[in-house]
Amino acid sequence: MIKENFLKMNCAIGEAAKKYGKEKDDITLVAVSKKHSIEKIKEAFALGQRDFGENFVQEAVNKIITLDNTDINWHFIGRIQSNKTRQISENFNWVHTVDRIKIAERLSKHRPKYADDLNICIQVNVDFENSKSGVSSEDLMDLCLAIKDLPKIKLRGLMCIPKIRFEHELQRKPFNVIKNLLVDLNENNFDVDTLSMGMTDDFKAAIQEGSTIIRIGTALFGSRK
Ligand SMILES: *Cc1c(COP(=O)(O)O)cnc(C)c1O
Repeated sequence: MIKENFLKMNCAIGEAAKKYGKEKDDITLVAVSKKHSIEKIKEAFALGQRDFGENFVQEAVNKIITLDNTDINWHFIGRIQSNKTRQISENFNWVHTVDRIKIAERLSKHRPKYADDLNICIQVNVDFENSKSGVSSEDLMDLCLAIKDLPKIKLRGLMCIPKIRFEHELQRKPFNVIKNLLVDLNENNFDVDTLSMGMTDDFKAAIQEGSTIIRIGTALFGSRK
């Protein structure tokens, strides 16, 4: 079951890359394993999957410690509470959902000396939804400036979770906004290379707009309880 899902998804990514003139190797598939078992993660790992995404700190840290596998890249993609920043910073390789300076400072402070820099993406609230986390595009530049020189964390790019839209052309619009924000940052010498955007229902539109990390759960592991 899982094997077929991964084969299909890797094919679909390859096809979308080809169709939109992108390099498949520039797109990382993060398998979102939240609420799925350690056995499923092991199965995916045996198929060659190396990047996994988790949303809930306690669940994730249990999995990370149990698996104890330094070949896995762990991506934190959930909401960040400030009292969880130590656990996140000590256990993950990437954090996609930074949206305020306080969180960035705490991740920086808690990153262990022996570890590589923590890779950070800033979540942008692209649809101006009150319910969603994410910095507004107006406040993005100031946040990036504040984060830029913090030790032990490296600003890699931007992440978004747009509203659900069903048509491809409508799905592209918010991704295009985020892509242009990344271009702006690079014009301001930020040297960022990552667009974390696209999920099960909109990853093709995200790839068309230059996504470098797509985050897929359901299409790989099935539905969550
Ligand atoms: C759960 C989640 C995903 C995966 O969603 P699917 O629809 O299952 O592919 C991707 N990104 C974030 C931030 C998530 O919380």
